[in-house]
Amino acid sequence: MTSSVLQTYNRAPLHFVKGEGTWLIEEDGRRFLDLGSGIAVNALGHAHPDLVAALTQQASQLWHVSNLYEIPQQEALATALTDNSFADRVFFTNSGTEACELAVKMARKYWYDKGQPDKVDIITFSGSFHGRSSAGIAAAGSEKMVKGFGPILEGFVHVPWGDHDAFTAAITDTTAAVLIEPVQGEGGIRPLPDQCLKGLRDICDEKGILLVLDEVQCGVGRTGKLFAHEWAGIAPDIMMVAKGIGGGFPLGAVLATEDAASGMTVGTHGSTYGGNPLGCAVGKAVIDRVADPAFLDGVNARAGRLRQKLESLVASHPDIFEGVRGAGLMLGLKTKVAPTDFVQAGYAAEVITVPAADNIVRLLPPLNITDAEIDEAVARLDRAATQMTAASQPE
Ligand code: PLP
Repeated sequence: MTSSVLQTYNRAPLHFVKGEGTWLIEEDGRRFLDLGSGIAVNALGHAHPDLVAALTQQASQLWHVSNLYEIPQQEALATALTDNSFADRVFFTNSGTEACELAVKMARKYWYDKGQPDKVDIITFSGSFHGRSSAGIAAAGSEKMVKGFGPILEGFVHVPWGDHDAFTAAITDTTAAVLIEPVQGEGGIRPLPDQCLKGLRDICDEKGILLVLDEVQCGVGRTGKLFAHEWAGIAPDIMMVAKGIGGGFPLGAVLATEDAASGMTVGTHGSTYGGNPLGCAVGKAVIDRVADPAFLDGVNARAGRLRQKLESLVASHPDIFEGVRGAGLMLGLKTKVAPTDFVQAGYAAEVITVPAADNIVRLLPPLNITDAEIDEAVARLDRAATQMTAASQPE
Protein backbone atom coordinates (compact mmCIF):
# COMPACT_ATOMS: atom_id res chain seq x y z
CA MET A 1 0.00 0.00 0.00
CA THR A 2 1.35 3.43 -0.80
CA SER A 3 1.32 5.73 2.17
CA SER A 4 1.74 9.45 2.61
CA VAL A 5 3.35 8.83 5.99
CA LEU A 6 7.14 9.16 6.32
CA GLN A 7 8.39 5.59 6.34
CA THR A 8 10.51 5.59 9.51
CA TYR A 9 8.65 2.64 11.03
CA ASN A 10 8.26 -0.98 10.04
CA ARG A 11 4.54 -1.22 10.77
CA ALA A 12 2.49 -4.36 11.27
CA PRO A 13 -0.69 -4.43 9.14
CA LEU A 14 -2.95 -4.17 12.19
CA HIS A 15 -5.65 -1.52 12.40
CA PHE A 16 -6.81 -1.15 15.97
CA VAL A 17 -10.09 0.66 16.25
CA LYS A 18 -10.86 0.38 19.97
CA GLY A 19 -9.21 -0.27 23.29
CA GLU A 20 -10.83 -1.68 26.42
CA GLY A 21 -8.56 -2.13 29.44
CA THR A 22 -5.90 -4.67 28.45
CA TRP A 23 -7.61 -5.42 25.12
CA LEU A 24 -7.12 -3.94 21.67
CA ILE A 25 -9.79 -4.61 19.07
CA GLU A 26 -8.80 -4.90 15.43
CA GLU A 27 -11.16 -3.60 12.73
CA ASP A 28 -11.91 -7.21 11.72
CA GLY A 29 -13.15 -7.88 15.28
CA ARG A 30 -10.14 -9.84 16.61
CA ARG A 31 -9.39 -9.09 20.27
CA PHE A 32 -5.69 -8.81 21.10
CA LEU A 33 -4.29 -8.91 24.62
CA ASP A 34 -2.06 -5.86 24.86
CA LEU A 35 1.24 -6.59 26.62
CA GLY A 36 2.84 -3.55 24.99
CA SER A 37 0.66 -0.70 26.28
CA GLY A 38 1.80 1.53 23.41
CA ILE A 39 5.36 0.92 24.70
CA ALA A 40 4.71 1.45 28.40
CA VAL A 41 2.25 4.30 27.86
CA ASN A 42 -1.23 3.00 28.69
CA ALA A 43 -0.40 2.53 32.38
CA LEU A 44 -4.06 2.07 33.30
CA GLY A 45 -5.03 0.28 30.12
CA HIS A 46 -7.22 1.62 27.35
CA ALA A 47 -10.16 3.94 28.03
CA HIS A 48 -9.85 3.78 31.81
CA PRO A 49 -13.02 5.45 33.18
CA ASP A 50 -11.06 7.84 35.47
CA LEU A 51 -8.96 9.05 32.55
CA VAL A 52 -11.91 9.31 30.17
CA ALA A 53 -13.76 11.36 32.82
CA ALA A 54 -10.75 13.61 33.47
CA LEU A 55 -10.18 14.17 29.75
CA THR A 56 -13.78 14.78 28.75
CA GLN A 57 -14.51 16.98 31.75
CA GLN A 58 -11.47 19.14 30.99
CA ALA A 59 -12.17 19.09 27.24
CA SER A 60 -15.59 20.57 27.83
CA GLN A 61 -14.07 23.43 29.85
CA LEU A 62 -10.71 24.51 28.44
CA TRP A 63 -8.16 22.72 26.26
CA HIS A 64 -5.28 25.08 26.07
CA VAL A 65 -3.90 28.27 27.51
CA SER A 66 -0.30 29.30 27.21
CA ASN A 67 2.26 29.20 29.97
CA LEU A 68 2.00 32.98 30.12
CA TYR A 69 -0.77 32.31 32.65
CA GLU A 70 -1.03 30.28 35.82
CA ILE A 71 -2.60 26.91 35.03
CA PRO A 72 -4.31 25.32 38.05
CA GLN A 73 -4.31 21.81 36.52
CA GLN A 74 -0.54 22.10 36.01
CA GLU A 75 -0.02 23.28 39.59
CA ALA A 76 -2.11 20.38 40.89
CA LEU A 77 -0.18 17.75 38.94
CA ALA A 78 3.17 19.29 39.88
CA THR A 79 2.17 19.19 43.55
CA ALA A 80 1.01 15.56 43.25
CA LEU A 81 4.45 14.73 41.83
CA THR A 82 6.49 16.66 44.38
CA ASP A 83 4.35 15.24 47.22
CA ASN A 84 5.19 11.75 46.00
CA SER A 85 8.85 12.09 45.05
CA PHE A 86 12.25 13.61 45.88
CA ALA A 87 11.49 16.63 43.70
CA ASP A 88 10.76 20.26 44.55
CA ARG A 89 10.15 21.52 40.99
CA VAL A 90 8.48 20.14 37.87
CA PHE A 91 8.50 21.29 34.25
CA PHE A 92 6.00 19.65 31.89
CA THR A 93 6.80 18.55 28.36
CA ASN A 94 4.90 16.60 25.69
CA SER A 95 7.33 13.69 25.42
CA GLY A 96 10.32 11.92 26.86
CA THR A 97 12.63 13.40 24.26
CA GLU A 98 11.72 16.92 25.31
CA ALA A 99 12.30 15.94 28.92
CA CYS A 100 15.80 14.80 27.90
CA GLU A 101 16.45 18.17 26.24
CA LEU A 102 15.57 20.03 29.42
CA ALA A 103 17.47 17.63 31.69
CA VAL A 104 20.64 18.22 29.66
CA LYS A 105 20.14 21.99 29.65
CA MET A 106 19.38 22.04 33.37
CA ALA A 107 22.51 20.06 34.28
CA ARG A 108 24.77 22.32 32.23
CA LYS A 109 23.14 25.54 33.42
CA TYR A 110 23.52 24.40 37.02
CA TRP A 111 27.29 24.32 36.78
CA TYR A 112 27.43 27.48 34.66
CA ASP A 113 25.59 29.36 37.37
CA LYS A 114 27.86 27.87 40.03
CA GLY A 115 30.83 29.49 38.28
CA GLN A 116 32.06 26.23 36.72
CA PRO A 117 31.16 26.68 33.04
CA ASP A 118 33.63 23.98 31.95
CA LYS A 119 31.55 21.29 33.62
CA VAL A 120 29.47 20.35 30.57
CA ASP A 121 30.09 16.65 29.98
CA ILE A 122 27.40 14.07 30.61
CA ILE A 123 28.31 10.43 31.08
CA THR A 124 25.89 7.95 29.49
CA PHE A 125 25.85 4.19 28.98
CA SER A 126 25.88 1.76 26.09
CA GLY A 127 22.46 0.45 25.15
CA SER A 128 20.75 3.55 26.50
CA PHE A 129 17.89 5.34 24.81
CA HIS A 130 16.92 8.92 25.58
CA GLY A 131 14.88 9.96 22.54
CA ARG A 132 15.44 11.02 18.95
CA SER A 133 16.32 14.70 19.23
CA SER A 134 19.86 15.94 18.63
CA ALA A 135 20.64 15.73 22.36
CA GLY A 136 18.83 12.39 22.72
CA ILE A 137 20.77 10.64 19.97
CA ALA A 138 24.05 12.19 21.10
CA ALA A 139 23.34 10.95 24.63
CA ALA A 140 22.72 7.39 23.41
CA GLY A 141 25.65 7.64 21.04
CA SER A 142 25.21 4.33 19.22
CA GLU A 143 26.09 4.25 15.54
CA LYS A 144 22.55 3.17 14.71
CA MET A 145 21.19 6.36 16.28
CA VAL A 146 23.71 8.96 15.13
CA LYS A 147 24.94 7.76 11.73
CA GLY A 148 24.21 10.34 9.06
CA PHE A 149 22.95 12.97 11.48
CA GLY A 150 26.16 14.84 12.16
CA PRO A 151 27.46 17.13 13.45
CA ILE A 152 26.53 15.41 16.70
CA LEU A 153 25.95 17.49 19.83
CA GLU A 154 29.15 17.49 21.87
CA GLY A 155 29.67 16.76 25.52
CA PHE A 156 28.51 13.14 25.93
CA VAL A 157 30.92 10.53 27.21
CA HIS A 158 29.82 6.94 26.62
CA VAL A 159 30.83 4.06 28.85
CA PRO A 160 29.83 0.38 28.75
CA TRP A 161 26.67 -0.49 30.71
CA GLY A 162 27.47 -1.90 34.13
CA ASP A 163 31.23 -1.21 33.90
CA HIS A 164 32.03 0.47 37.19
CA ASP A 165 35.74 0.95 36.44
CA ALA A 166 35.07 2.50 33.02
CA PHE A 167 32.56 4.82 34.66
CA THR A 168 34.89 6.06 37.39
CA ALA A 169 37.73 6.43 34.85
CA ALA A 170 35.47 8.63 32.68
CA ILE A 171 34.89 11.17 35.44
CA THR A 172 36.96 14.35 34.96
CA ASP A 173 36.86 17.98 36.03
CA THR A 174 34.49 18.67 33.13
CA THR A 175 31.88 16.08 34.17
CA ALA A 176 28.56 17.78 34.85
CA ALA A 177 26.24 14.82 35.23
CA VAL A 178 25.60 11.15 34.74
CA LEU A 179 22.46 10.20 32.83
CA ILE A 180 21.09 6.68 33.21
CA GLU A 181 17.91 4.59 32.95
CA PRO A 182 17.46 2.56 36.16
CA VAL A 183 16.00 -0.14 33.90
CA GLN A 184 17.04 0.11 30.25
CA GLY A 185 14.02 -0.27 28.01
CA GLU A 186 14.95 -0.13 24.32
CA GLY A 187 18.36 -1.55 25.25
CA GLY A 188 16.69 -4.82 26.27
CA ILE A 189 15.05 -4.59 29.72
CA ARG A 190 18.31 -4.39 31.63
CA PRO A 191 17.79 -3.42 35.28
CA LEU A 192 20.67 -1.71 37.05
CA PRO A 193 21.16 -3.60 40.35
CA ASP A 194 20.13 -1.53 43.38
CA GLN A 195 23.66 -1.54 44.81
CA CYS A 196 25.00 -0.11 41.52
CA LEU A 197 22.49 2.74 41.60
CA LYS A 198 23.43 3.38 45.25
CA GLY A 199 27.10 3.30 44.24
CA LEU A 200 26.43 5.78 41.43
CA ARG A 201 24.72 8.14 43.87
CA ASP A 202 27.70 7.91 46.25
CA ILE A 203 30.21 8.65 43.50
CA CYS A 204 28.12 11.57 42.27
CA ASP A 205 28.04 13.00 45.81
CA GLU A 206 31.75 12.44 46.33
CA LYS A 207 32.80 14.00 43.02
CA GLY A 208 30.18 16.72 42.81
CA ILE A 209 28.24 15.39 39.81
CA LEU A 210 24.51 15.60 39.18
CA LEU A 211 22.64 12.30 38.96
CA VAL A 212 20.04 12.44 36.20
CA LEU A 213 17.68 9.48 35.90
CA ASP A 214 15.69 8.69 32.78
CA GLU A 215 12.52 7.07 34.09
CA VAL A 216 10.58 7.69 30.89
CA GLN A 217 9.95 3.96 30.43
CA CYS A 218 10.55 2.50 33.91
CA GLY A 219 8.79 5.20 35.96
CA VAL A 220 5.17 5.76 37.02
CA GLY A 221 4.56 2.45 38.76
CA ARG A 222 6.06 0.22 36.07
CA THR A 223 8.53 -1.50 38.44
CA GLY A 224 6.10 -1.65 41.40
CA LYS A 225 7.24 1.60 43.03
CA LEU A 226 6.05 4.97 41.75
CA PHE A 227 9.62 5.58 40.52
CA ALA A 228 12.14 2.81 39.88
CA HIS A 229 15.01 4.43 41.82
CA GLU A 230 13.01 4.10 45.04
CA TRP A 231 13.95 0.40 45.14
CA ALA A 232 17.58 1.45 45.68
CA GLY A 233 16.63 3.90 48.44
CA ILE A 234 18.28 6.81 46.67
CA ALA A 235 17.11 10.02 45.05
CA PRO A 236 18.38 11.66 41.86
CA ASP A 237 18.95 15.38 41.36
CA ILE A 238 17.00 15.45 38.12
CA MET A 239 14.58 12.91 36.63
CA MET A 240 12.85 12.59 33.28
CA VAL A 241 9.43 10.96 33.05
CA ALA A 242 6.91 10.59 30.21
CA LYS A 243 4.96 7.66 28.69
CA GLY A 244 2.94 6.26 31.63
CA ILE A 245 2.39 9.63 33.25
CA GLY A 246 -0.12 10.61 30.55
CA GLY A 247 -1.74 7.17 30.35
CA GLY A 248 -1.97 7.72 26.59
CA PHE A 249 -2.18 11.51 26.47
CA PRO A 250 1.17 12.97 25.29
CA LEU A 251 2.78 14.21 28.50
CA GLY A 252 6.26 14.26 29.96
CA ALA A 253 8.03 16.02 32.80
CA VAL A 254 11.35 16.88 34.34
CA LEU A 255 11.42 16.64 38.13
CA ALA A 256 14.28 18.24 40.04
CA THR A 257 15.44 19.34 43.43
CA GLU A 258 15.32 23.06 44.15
CA ASP A 259 19.12 23.18 43.95
CA ALA A 260 19.44 21.27 40.65
CA ALA A 261 16.69 23.40 39.11
CA SER A 262 18.16 26.67 40.34
CA GLY A 263 19.63 27.72 36.99
CA MET A 264 16.33 27.47 35.15
CA THR A 265 15.05 30.97 35.71
CA VAL A 266 12.49 33.02 33.77
CA GLY A 267 13.20 32.90 30.04
CA THR A 268 15.68 29.98 30.11
CA HIS A 269 13.20 27.35 28.88
CA GLY A 270 9.66 27.06 27.64
CA SER A 271 7.06 25.06 25.72
CA THR A 272 3.84 26.04 23.97
CA TYR A 273 1.94 22.88 24.86
CA GLY A 274 3.89 21.51 27.82
CA GLY A 275 1.70 21.49 30.91
CA ASN A 276 -1.54 22.40 29.18
CA PRO A 277 -4.82 21.83 31.07
CA LEU A 278 -5.86 18.75 29.08
CA GLY A 279 -2.62 16.84 29.57
CA CYS A 280 -2.31 17.81 33.22
CA ALA A 281 -5.90 16.87 34.04
CA VAL A 282 -5.26 13.37 32.64
CA GLY A 283 -1.82 13.14 34.28
CA LYS A 284 -3.32 14.01 37.66
CA ALA A 285 -5.88 11.21 37.29
CA VAL A 286 -3.05 8.78 36.47
CA ILE A 287 -0.88 9.82 39.42
CA ASP A 288 -3.85 9.81 41.84
CA ARG A 289 -4.37 6.16 40.96
CA VAL A 290 -0.80 4.91 40.50
CA ALA A 291 0.74 6.64 43.56
CA ASP A 292 -1.75 4.86 45.83
CA PRO A 293 0.30 2.31 47.86
CA ALA A 294 -2.52 -0.24 47.57
CA PHE A 295 -2.38 0.05 43.76
CA LEU A 296 1.41 -0.44 43.82
CA ASP A 297 1.01 -3.49 46.07
CA GLY A 298 -1.30 -4.87 43.39
CA VAL A 299 1.29 -4.15 40.68
CA ASN A 300 3.87 -6.14 42.65
CA ALA A 301 1.48 -9.04 43.16
CA ARG A 302 0.58 -9.12 39.46
CA ALA A 303 4.25 -8.81 38.53
CA GLY A 304 5.05 -11.84 40.70
CA ARG A 305 2.32 -13.87 39.03
CA LEU A 306 3.39 -12.90 35.50
CA ARG A 307 7.06 -13.55 36.22
CA GLN A 308 6.37 -16.98 37.67
CA LYS A 309 4.27 -17.96 34.66
CA LEU A 310 6.92 -16.66 32.28
CA GLU A 311 9.57 -18.75 34.01
CA SER A 312 7.40 -21.83 33.31
CA LEU A 313 6.87 -20.69 29.73
CA VAL A 314 10.63 -20.38 29.24
CA ALA A 315 11.16 -23.86 30.73
CA SER A 316 8.57 -25.36 28.36
CA HIS A 317 10.11 -23.82 25.23
CA PRO A 318 13.90 -24.14 25.53
CA ASP A 319 14.20 -23.90 21.73
CA ILE A 320 12.57 -20.44 21.71
CA PHE A 321 13.49 -18.79 25.02
CA GLU A 322 16.66 -18.36 27.03
CA GLY A 323 15.27 -16.63 30.11
CA VAL A 324 13.20 -13.86 31.59
CA ARG A 325 14.47 -10.66 33.20
CA GLY A 326 13.31 -7.25 34.30
CA ALA A 327 11.54 -5.58 37.19
CA GLY A 328 7.86 -5.39 38.11
CA LEU A 329 5.68 -5.25 35.00
CA MET A 330 8.65 -4.31 32.83
CA LEU A 331 9.75 -7.77 31.75
CA GLY A 332 11.81 -9.15 28.92
CA LEU A 333 11.84 -12.62 27.40
CA LYS A 334 15.29 -13.34 26.07
CA THR A 335 14.76 -15.27 22.84
CA LYS A 336 16.88 -17.69 20.86
CA VAL A 337 14.90 -16.74 17.76
CA ALA A 338 14.75 -13.22 16.28
CA PRO A 339 12.55 -11.23 18.71
CA THR A 340 10.69 -9.65 15.79
CA ASP A 341 9.75 -13.16 14.59
CA PHE A 342 8.35 -13.97 18.01
CA VAL A 343 6.41 -10.70 18.08
CA GLN A 344 4.93 -11.70 14.68
CA ALA A 345 3.97 -15.13 16.01
CA GLY A 346 2.32 -13.29 18.90
CA TYR A 347 0.16 -11.33 16.46
CA ALA A 348 -1.10 -14.63 15.04
CA ALA A 349 -1.95 -15.73 18.61
CA GLU A 350 -3.61 -12.32 19.24
CA VAL A 351 -1.17 -11.09 21.86
CA ILE A 352 0.86 -7.88 21.53
CA THR A 353 4.50 -7.73 22.61
CA VAL A 354 7.32 -5.33 21.70
CA PRO A 355 10.83 -6.19 20.47
CA ALA A 356 13.93 -4.61 22.00
CA ALA A 357 17.70 -4.87 21.58
CA ASP A 358 19.74 -7.79 22.93
CA ASN A 359 17.26 -10.41 21.65
CA ILE A 360 14.53 -9.30 23.98
CA VAL A 361 10.77 -9.40 23.61
CA ARG A 362 9.31 -6.79 25.96
CA LEU A 363 6.22 -7.33 28.07
CA LEU A 364 4.88 -4.01 29.37
CA PRO A 365 1.21 -4.70 30.16
CA PRO A 366 -1.16 -2.16 31.67
CA LEU A 367 -0.37 -1.96 35.40
CA ASN A 368 -3.96 -2.98 36.19
CA ILE A 369 -3.96 -6.14 34.07
CA THR A 370 -6.09 -8.76 35.85
CA ASP A 371 -4.89 -12.17 37.02
CA ALA A 372 -7.18 -13.84 34.47
CA GLU A 373 -5.69 -11.68 31.70
CA ILE A 374 -2.17 -12.61 32.81
CA ASP A 375 -3.09 -16.29 32.57
CA GLU A 376 -4.69 -15.83 29.16
CA ALA A 377 -1.74 -13.74 27.92
CA VAL A 378 0.78 -16.40 28.90
CA ALA A 379 -1.41 -19.07 27.26
CA ARG A 380 -1.28 -17.01 24.05
CA LEU A 381 2.50 -16.58 24.32
CA ASP A 382 2.70 -20.34 24.76
CA ARG A 383 0.64 -20.82 21.60
CA ALA A 384 2.93 -18.44 19.71
CA ALA A 385 6.03 -20.35 20.86
CA THR A 386 4.46 -23.73 20.00
CA GLN A 387 3.54 -22.45 16.54
CA MET A 388 7.12 -21.20 15.99
CA THR A 389 8.56 -24.57 16.99
CA ALA A 390 6.14 -26.39 14.68
CA ALA A 391 6.97 -24.04 11.80
CA SER A 392 10.69 -24.74 12.22
CA GLN A 393 10.28 -28.58 12.08
CA PRO A 394 11.10 -30.26 8.77
CA GLU A 395 8.00 -31.55 6.93
N1 PLP B 1 13.88 7.80 27.35
C1 PLP B 1 13.51 6.51 27.42
C2 PLP B 1 14.09 5.64 28.47
C3 PLP B 1 12.60 5.99 26.50
O1 PLP B 1 12.26 4.69 26.55
C4 PLP B 1 12.05 6.85 25.51
C5 PLP B 1 11.11 6.33 24.51
O2 PLP B 1 11.05 5.15 24.23
C6 PLP B 1 12.46 8.20 25.49
C7 PLP B 1 13.35 8.63 26.43
C8 PLP B 1 11.88 9.14 24.47
O3 PLP B 1 10.55 9.38 24.78
P1 PLP B 1 9.52 9.90 23.66
O4 PLP B 1 9.41 8.84 22.63
O5 PLP B 1 8.25 10.17 24.42
O6 PLP B 1 10.08 11.16 23.11
